[in-house]
Amino acid sequence: MLRSYLARVFPIDMLREIEGSLAEMGRLAGADLYQLQLADRLNEPRLTQWDAWGNRIDKIELTPLWRVAERIAAEHGVVATAYEQKHGSLSRVYQCALAYLFTPSTDIYSCPLAMTDGAARTLLSSENQALIDRAVPHLTTRDANEFWTAGQWMTELTGGSDVGLSETVAKPDDANGFRLYGRKWFTSAIGSQIALTLARPEGNPPGGRGLALFYIETRDEHGQPRNIEINRLKDKLGTRKVPTAELNLVGTPAQLVKGSTDGVRNIAPLLNITRLWNGISAVALMRRGLALAYDYAGKRVAFGAPLSEKPLHDDTLAGLQAESEAAFHLAFYVAELTGRSETREILEDEALLLRLLTPVMKLTTGKQAVMVASEVLECFGGAGYVEDTGLPLLLRDSQVLPIWEGTTNVLALDTLRALDSGDSLGQLQLAVTRCLDAAREPQLADAARVARTSLDHATNWFAHVRSLGQPALEAGARRFALTLGRTMELSLLIKHAQWSHDNEQNGQASASARRFANSCVDLIF
Ligand SMILES: Cc1cc2nc3c(=O)[nH]c(=O)nc-3n(C[C@H](O)[C@H](O)[C@H](O)COP(=O)(O)OP(=O)(O)OC[C@H]3O[C@@H](n4cnc5c(N)ncnc54)[C@H](O)[C@@H]3O)c2cc1C
Repeated sequence: MLRSYLARVFPIDMLREIEGSLAEMGRLAGADLYQLQLADRLNEPRLTQWDAWGNRIDKIELTPLWRVAERIAAEHGVVATAYEQKHGSLSRVYQCALAYLFTPSTDIYSCPLAMTDGAARTLLSSENQALIDRAVPHLTTRDANEFWTAGQWMTELTGGSDVGLSETVAKPDDANGFRLYGRKWFTSAIGSQIALTLARPEGNPPGGRGLALFYIETRDEHGQPRNIEINRLKDKLGTRKVPTAELNLVGTPAQLVKGSTDGVRNIAPLLNITRLWNGISAVALMRRGLALAYDYAGKRVAFGAPLSEKPLHDDTLAGLQAESEAAFHLAFYVAELTGRSETREILEDEALLLRLLTPVMKLTTGKQAVMVASEVLECFGGAGYVEDTGLPLLLRDSQVLPIWEGTTNVLALDTLRALDSGDSLGQLQLAVTRCLDAAREPQLADAARVARTSLDHATNWFAHVRSLGQPALEAGARRFALTLGRTMELSLLIKHAQWSHDNEQNGQASASARRFANSCVDLIF
């Protein structure tokens, strides 16, 4: 899937330049990191709040896998590649390909990397030169000794979706900075050197506009937290290698990133990047699950033959393959658009499409990842449910993908907001049409018809329900957004299938496109 896609989007000379590093990452993920991941299965990060002499230290110890993952991520440029921009706008795609290979064997180390990447992008777009000079070189370096990761602390007890309710207060301090006072309820990768967070400068109005975006360096030169108390690490269903903490900010020194209001708007670049990472993680975990399920199907014998020779098992795998290929193409398409926006090559119309597809892609692929992981476990029968196979991890870790960085409903509502600015739905129609017009193979005709019909249904639904008022529109937003996502996925899959047919004489993508077309693309009823 990855090789075929890269061969389509990269010029041949560029592809030769990046192939070596991708092959090396694939080798690490399949060998050294995978072995370490299996050995690390029972390890979890540890919080030590007090030292032997009664001093509060709130020390976090990561597991061996995560310590190695951090070094490899830095040295192989899993964040840096996007900022070195050696391959123009395709640098972002190259970086996502590295992340795609790196993610399945590193137990959600993608989480701190996503936030690091998002923080670098946010700082760069803030025009705050002092903070850019201070932090961005660390966030985007390949030197593991200099590498910093970033957290993003938004969610409070009052809400993760409705962050406008945030209660953290920012008081000016003597040194031209601020001190933050409040309680942050979910803060992942708490071992990070910096964090971007939201707080309300004293005197600011309530709601999202009154919040400001702040930069924090979490520990002093002795490694002590800077007026941050880590109350506990969350005991979570999955992502158990990620130290996700509950914090008290008790006068934490902080600096404004950009203005003293509009923090929610100013942190948007971070969320766009973490949502892209969410999609790439979703397709990476689906790929890992499928690879294991295919392998097992060749080995497990039932009723006189390997499962791979059983038509029904084969059909089950084909359905999962189609979901995962479809999701792959949407996630990487958003990476392409993101890359073009970062090199400022993006056209105004494409920017509208990116604004619309970022939430659509995140919510669609998150749901697919959970479904595929659940089916993968079932492909192993009872073994899929047993911890020491390592398989339950896939399902638990996938389950976070529809929740963090915006739940499915919250992103469905964001999809509606995206449609308010310019003709982004028209841009989506154009993008779908371009994909489908490229398909000349007769065996793709039915699939193309499904894509056209579901898009027409979605646009007609939107036009009709909009006139009925906001409650009706909101009630259908999830079905609408998922239909847009699955339609775009099908269209991209068809486009790739045609290319693969012409250039690789390979029918896999075509088979997946036909299969996906029959898998509930239109979810509006
Ligand atoms: C493992 C993990 C790590 C996390 N790490 C971080 C982190 O590092 N930093 C951080 O800031 N946060 C983090 N979070 C928090 C996460 O971002 C929030 O949990 C998420 O945004 C949802 O917010 P909430 O928990 O307050 O749920 P709520 O906002 O209370 O949502 C509850 C339900 O209501 C639905 N809902 C909410 N509003 C609407 C609406 N208007 N219409 C329809 N439905 C609605 C949601 O879809 C959801 O199903 C993490 C969460 C997890 C699970």
